[in-house]
Amino acid sequence: MEYSIKCIGLLTSGGDAPGMNAAVRAVTRTAIFNGIKVKAIYRGYKGLITGEIREFQTQDVSGIIGRGGTILKTARCEEFRTPEGRRTAYETMLREQIDALIVIGGDGTFTGARELAKEYNIPIVGVPGTIDNDLWGTDSTIGYDTALNTIMECVDKIRDTASSHERVFFVEVMGRDAGFLALNSALAAGAEAAIIPERKTPEEQLEAFIGNGLRKSKNSSIVIVAENPEIGGAQGLANTLKEKHPEYDVRVTILGHLQRGGSPTAYDRILASRMGVAAINALLEEQRNIMIGIKNDELVYVPFSKAIKDDKDVNPDSVQALQILAI
Ligand code: ATP
Repeated sequence: MEYSIKCIGLLTSGGDAPGMNAAVRAVTRTAIFNGIKVKAIYRGYKGLITGEIREFQTQDVSGIIGRGGTILKTARCEEFRTPEGRRTAYETMLREQIDALIVIGGDGTFTGARELAKEYNIPIVGVPGTIDNDLWGTDSTIGYDTALNTIMECVDKIRDTASSHERVFFVEVMGRDAGFLALNSALAAGAEAAIIPERKTPEEQLEAFIGNGLRKSKNSSIVIVAENPEIGGAQGLANTLKEKHPEYDVRVTILGHLQRGGSPTAYDRILASRMGVAAINALLEEQRNIMIGIKNDELVYVPFSKAIKDDKDVNPDSVQALQILAI
């Protein structure tokens, strides 16, 4: 039997990430280059259920490589978590004559993709677009490098005021379940510590930081905290420190959504372009239910089941470097 894909559906889903547009552009143009039609699906899985779909031509993705966010919009879609919701999505695909899907998003997006693929035997390829970098099997995800640079620039600015007033700053960054942003922005900005979900409890990490002398020879300290609502986030840790050490002038900054925005870095644009091309090539090679990853600068195929398993660890040498360099 001839294996042929004549039309793909393309969507972005989950949290937006800088570089998603560059991936949309690359997928669209590579598909058209190979004679495959592209149907752009708006608002993630929601658009697949409601049928918010439009065919894209090459010029529909002009001028977007440097734009943050996603021109396809994104949404969380509870209905897609149900078999009935996915049935409706499948019916839309039949109606629109979509033979395969390219989904750009994070672990939730790929979990949903896996369900749909299992139930209806649809070829799906994932492109990792999330600032958290929490997908297994890839050194980096699209958007992570940009978010890291954004945080670094903010922390550099906070350092000016922290050192002028001789304060201790807790800076809260995104990454509820993953400390990549916190750890590596701490390294990049020369922060004194990072409190991350991969290592002990936040309280223990704070204790260790205090035990190490907090400021040592310096007049200011910056601690990057991966968001953690259970402990009241960075504010919760700041309160604990203030109780134990009222002599310190402790302040909190929550960076929030500004971490998601902005024009993608060169690294993210290149990564998104390479992964977007690879996603179509993977479909042409009859790959299905895989995520495109990058390992040692080589593109790899990672089965969804592995990509979403929840145990990608931070680099131990980065943890050690942060401790050593904080003296
Ligand atoms: P980010 O890491 O940036 O948050 P994400 O892809 O993990 O991105 P989620 O909101 O977790 O973002 O997931 C996106 C969408 O994927 C959900 O709104 C839902 O429609 C679908 N989804 C998530 N988990 C499942 C699941 N277990 N079954 C079916 N669909 C799911």
